[in-house]
Amino acid sequence: MGALRLVLGDQLSFELASLAGLDVQRDRVLLAEVAEEAGHVPHHPQKIAFVFSAMRHFAQALRERGVAVDYVTLDDPDNSGSLAGELQRFAALHQPQAIHVTEAGDWRVEQALKANGLPITWHADTRFLCSRDAFARWASGKKQLRLEFFYREMRRQSGLLLHPDGTPEGGAWNFDADNRKALPRGLRGPMPLRFTADAISREVLALVAERFAHHYGRHDGFDYPVTHAEAEQLWQHFLDFGLGAFGDYQDAMASGEPFLFHARISAALNVGLLDVRRLCADVETAYRQGRVALNAAEGFIRQLIGWREYVRGIYWLQMPGYAQRNAFGNTRPLPAFYWSGQTRMNCMRQAIGQTLEHAYAHHIQRLMVTGNFALLAGIVPAQLCDWYLAVYLDAFDWVELPNVLGMVLHADGGYLGSNPYCASGQYIKRMSDYCQGCAYRVNESTTDDACPFNALYWHFLMRHRDRLEGNPRLGMVYKNLARMDEGKQQALWQRGEALLARLDGGEAL
Ligand code: SF4
Repeated sequence: MGALRLVLGDQLSFELASLAGLDVQRDRVLLAEVAEEAGHVPHHPQKIAFVFSAMRHFAQALRERGVAVDYVTLDDPDNSGSLAGELQRFAALHQPQAIHVTEAGDWRVEQALKANGLPITWHADTRFLCSRDAFARWASGKKQLRLEFFYREMRRQSGLLLHPDGTPEGGAWNFDADNRKALPRGLRGPMPLRFTADAISREVLALVAERFAHHYGRHDGFDYPVTHAEAEQLWQHFLDFGLGAFGDYQDAMASGEPFLFHARISAALNVGLLDVRRLCADVETAYRQGRVALNAAEGFIRQLIGWREYVRGIYWLQMPGYAQRNAFGNTRPLPAFYWSGQTRMNCMRQAIGQTLEHAYAHHIQRLMVTGNFALLAGIVPAQLCDWYLAVYLDAFDWVELPNVLGMVLHADGGYLGSNPYCASGQYIKRMSDYCQGCAYRVNESTTDDACPFNALYWHFLMRHRDRLEGNPRLGMVYKNLARMDEGKQQALWQRGEALLARLDGGEAL
């Protein structure tokens, strides 16, 4: 035979670099569902079903194009259980002249494949705008990296939202300040587009229910796109009904509104069912045709060519040491209610509840609710990272680890971002209606029914004063703390201590 081309579960693109030049007469493509990837953290059942179903549909689409595909299902009795094992097995079977693999999205997977001794030809993942090498060159010599400068570079390189003279559309690079409106009372997101499971998805869902019933998260209600055509429909739905309001309300949160104006395309994009360049071009066109405002178009494009590429670059630049970082020396285990949603804090119950139901929460819920709580409570970074990796449909190591360890927990000491995203309950009150339905009182800090975020916020700032007081973004906060009378400071500290002691005793708060 010719070449054996391994396609990983998050590489389901026809344009994948390792499929370039594929000879349908002689080459074979290998896809494998393996226990090691499905179970190395307790992935949400819908996430496993999504990846396996999308893989099976991709294999079918390749066969329809005349490609010879070796597809190994999870329950295949010959399945070795690991990607490296399956590649070894099929290489021995076919004796290919060459083996092609596109670089992985997970450091651990890539190391395992490299360690198996096969002569693999590796390909850069051209689905990203910025290669690992290009990011390393950009980062070289910089003590601290900052998204804003990287993002401008990517705008210049891509030409997106630029005037012909190279200046940014609208006279500024970044309209982040126009992306933070609270949701007006009564405004609801569009009807979500849902996809009905076909025979392939139903078969996968049955397999997942049988094999992963012990994982957290609901099996039923699976409605995600699993083909390129379905992902395209979801994307068009967002362009027509979500993007316009996304600009204003991308940071807003509302009870019973798990999706609001968010695209929910991140999982499809991360496994290769959508192409980032196409998405950005569509958004720019929508802006130029006057269908959406600049704050919506720029805000969306910033997430894709700025943040998404930035965190990937950091991941590959810093691994494997990055995963061990713990700048605050956190020692507190992840509270059990992260897996059950059983807490009296309504914001946490809403964010975790919809996560268990849909394997989805949007970025502010992840950053400012579940993430903020973990930051304030001093949760062990590796445990929180594993939680995010397990419960979110779109979470793959390259994107989850820097987002959680770096952005949420500031555990890299400020390498990825300059300041920790710590906030009291007032932020959640401003950006959501959660506090209205909460057992705790958001305007109280030290009483027994006071919002836990309030005292924990001040406790966090007091216990990390040495490290954070000099941070320019926190200067005003520490001045406010200094102005508080001694009694108030002590009461906040004691309330914080009491809350943390309850967490340590296994209470849910
Ligand atoms: Fe969350 Fe505090 Fe508001 Fe309750 S009062 S919803 S715990 S921020």
